[in-house]
Amino acid sequence: MNFSDLGLDADLLRAVTTQGYREPTPIQRQAIPVVLQGRDLLASAQTGTGKTAGFTLPMLQRLSAGKPAAKRQVRALVLTPTRELAAQVGESVTTYGQHLSLRSHIIFGGVGQQPQVDALKRGLDILVATPGRLLDLQQQGHVDLSSVEILVLDEADRMLDMGFIHDIKRLLKLVPSKRQTLLFSATFSNEIQTLAQQFLSDPELIEV
Ligand code: AMP
Repeated sequence: MNFSDLGLDADLLRAVTTQGYREPTPIQRQAIPVVLQGRDLLASAQTGTGKTAGFTLPMLQRLSAGKPAAKRQVRALVLTPTRELAAQVGESVTTYGQHLSLRSHIIFGGVGQQPQVDALKRGLDILVATPGRLLDLQQQGHVDLSSVEILVLDEADRMLDMGFIHDIKRLLKLVPSKRQTLLFSATFSNEIQTLAQQFLSDPELIEV
């Protein structure tokens, strides 16, 4: 099986080829068609399995088919536990989306907020963020999450371990209930399963 069998458009296939990927990894083979269909996904996958491309490629394709983000609006929100992971996911978004004209930005704490505020003002097709700083900016009125179409919780178990559960729950109240939600976690603890039951709708389950 190769990437073109998964239903990805030429612009994304070109980016994948440029990266030198010869064939999709198991998580990519399973996740990409599900995400393209617009379904919710609950996936257990460690770092190093290719999970980032597994959600980024189909997410970019779905976004490229719709209207660009309006001012202060966000169309896809990816939450990550750390700034390192946010930076890594943000880089993947840029790399895989190099032939699309989608606007993306990364937001995390510990740095000045003005460049982040400026990026949010124009509207973003994809926002990759750590929960704390995003809530800060939302409370200050710099971002409107009411038109989020796709929500990704990446390394959800680490977000819970780091004590982000309350922030995540607050953020989940700010996004529409009609949306696509993708949850990635290295483990399926009871806590993760409770979170999934609360916030995912009839998810496809993938374990690699
Ligand atoms: P991730 O698990 O998403 O952190 O990805 C781990 C690494 O695998 C990254 O450096 C990717 O560039 C690389 N990668 C992702 N998909 C593929 C693929 N299909 N073939 C080869 N390498 C890949």
